[in-house]
Amino acid sequence: QSDPTLRPEGLPGDADRALRPQVLEEFVGQAEARANLRVFIESAKIRGEAMDHTLFHGPPGLGKTTLAQIMARELGVGFRMTSGPVLARAGDLAAILTNLEPNDVLFIDEIHRLSPVVEEVLYPAMEDFALDLVIGEGPAARTVRIDLQPFTLVGATTRLGLLTTPLRDRFGIPTRLVFYTEDELDLIVTRGARLMGIPSDPEGTREIAKRARGTPRIAGRLLRRVVDFVLVEGDGRLTQAIADRALTRLGVDHLGLDGADRRYMMLLAEHYGGGPVGVETISAALSEARDALEEVIEPFLLQQGLLQRTPRGRMLAARAWRHLGLEAPKPPGQ
Ligand code: ADP
Repeated sequence: QSDPTLRPEGLPGDADRALRPQVLEEFVGQAEARANLRVFIESAKIRGEAMDHTLFHGPPGLGKTTLAQIMARELGVGFRMTSGPVLARAGDLAAILTNLEPNDVLFIDEIHRLSPVVEEVLYPAMEDFALDLVIGEGPAARTVRIDLQPFTLVGATTRLGLLTTPLRDRFGIPTRLVFYTEDELDLIVTRGARLMGIPSDPEGTREIAKRARGTPRIAGRLLRRVVDFVLVEGDGRLTQAIADRALTRLGVDHLGLDGADRRYMMLLAEHYGGGPVGVETISAALSEARDALEEVIEPFLLQQGLLQRTPRGRMLAARAWRHLGLEAPKPPGQ
């Protein structure tokens, strides 16, 4: 039987790995979350207990997995990683829980996608560090309680709203991650270029930071692509000119929007007069899963003031019309 947990250290070809910050000190941005985690980690160490269960929520690529790994490292405990969709049966989770060492960090990505039966197993595990097993069937069935080692559950989700209330309430430390500022992304890109051994101009790294959609994962990906151009078409130095050329060729515009973002905005502009349009309609028209729209595309457009959410659906904001180079329709009655 295959092990339902993944060890990120063992993932082949994980190009992200080298750039991943290893300790809290190296982790750029998320100042508030970082300051709080620092206190909770130190306190758990002083008490010699497992740190309280922690929930990270926010758009993909903002550092939820990275922070979970850093927590384990700073606490000096083991790290186990799995995800909601991977844990199909209650037994899968039970197997992982019974194998934890004292105070280990168990990371469950996409925790909003746990099946209800698996979630049931999690409740007593989180609350009492215990497992309730049903032995036998029918009238002879009985429950036995097995004690577990204390552990810290770190959950990650892109969709806080999809978490059940009982699960949400069992996390002592809910933490929201926010989009990164350009300055923070610049630090990340500069560090990344240094680690890759590529000399860079400040304007060059800044160009990537500006166009990284507020997201370190995207900054890392764009940096690797720009470096390809630097090595093949440039003279080995990351300059603004080559960054701009590479990013434009990759279809990333000056706001950091890519083809999918522009398709979304063009649809609203050209077919729906800017909206409001229901998300289901947009999903059908673009042949994109609604989840992908709500988790990946919309959060950044909303944050950038390009899109508005209204009770009647999504609407393009004035800034989006300007960005697309189109004229916004006049409001009725003017
Ligand atoms: P999530 O779990 O939220 O989807 P990850 O933790 O997997 O995001 O981070 C995505 C990528 O971004 C990783 O390669 C990681 O190294 C990088 N990254 C995330 N946050 C930071 C940060 N604060 N500083 C530097 N790199 C970061």
